Amino acid sequence: MPDSPSRIASAISDEANVPYRGEQPFGMVDDLVVENALDLDGDERLWVPQSADVSFKPLVLSASQGYFVNILKVRRRGVLSRHRHAGPVHATVLRGRWHYLEHPWWAEEGSYVFEPPGDIHTLEIPDGVEEMATLFHVTGAYIYVDPDGNPTGVEDVFTKIANARVHYEQVGLGADYAERFIR
Ligand code: FE
Repeated sequence: MPDSPSRIASAISDEANVPYRGEQPFGMVDDLVVENALDLDGDERLWVPQSADVSFKPLVLSASQGYFVNILKVRRRGVLSRHRHAGPVHATVLRGRWHYLEHPWWAEEGSYVFEPPGDIHTLEIPDGVEEMATLFHVTGAYIYVDPDGNPTGVEDVFTKIANARVHYEQVGLGADYAERFIR
């Protein structure tokens, strides 16, 4: 005898709080949680220096898909770099403000910015900003360029991983500390 609509409805609601009981898809990579991800003033050891006044905190270092998500923290004013993006960039400003010399807009605290692949721009942090912190999701690579667009250097998920490994070894966390961010 077929179930009545009300019996079906109650059966569905009985299962509303039941966790998925099957297997996860074969080949799926592990999920990843970074506690206190947006804490900009916590454990300094987690921040990987890129230069004297620039450091990053990795959130995901995706070796399998060629992107990385990190928070960049800059404690210096002036031009930081001129670069071209090989892939899209999503940025959320957490502290301070910055802009690109080539564009009229400013990335203010709380702003979201999409940077299209191919865009070539020069990042400047203005006077009066003690510290800038921005969460960047960067696919592909930064290609550092001279004013004519000639390549002078490159940064991608693999240089990030290499820097993180060296730094975490130096501060006593061990090079393998970086592995928790790699997917
Ligand atoms: Fe950029």
